Amino acid sequence: MHPVKIAFVAHDNKKDDIINFAIAYEKLFEGHQLFATGTTGLRIAEHTSLSVFRFKSGPLGGDQQLGALIAQNDLDLLLFFRDPLVAQPHEPDISALLRLCDVYG
Ligand code: PGA
Repeated sequence: MHPVKIAFVAHDNKKDDIINFAIAYEKLFEGHQLFATGTTGLRIAEHTSLSVFRFKSGPLGGDQQLGALIAQNDLDLLLFFRDPLVAQPHEPDISALLRLCDVYG
């Protein structure tokens, strides 16, 4: 199977959810090229045997690094577990990332 480039991002209140999601689908994610923002990637790596390339933490530019991958058509799928109830300090970065997801489908 051709490896798919998949990225994970989860806001703090959603990190347990994305870890459980990664554990549940670990077999499916094996063999694909995985990326994540810093803390999300660390937590997934701690709880699974998946190899995840970690960008910077979201508030420190990780969302923008993922956005750059998308703009280069270098990412196939973004799994973004958002917290709709807590204001994020890097809201502009999140909006930019979602916009690029829409632009590049
Ligand atoms: P983090 O970043 O994985 O480094 O926590 C996620 C985010 O809040 O955008």
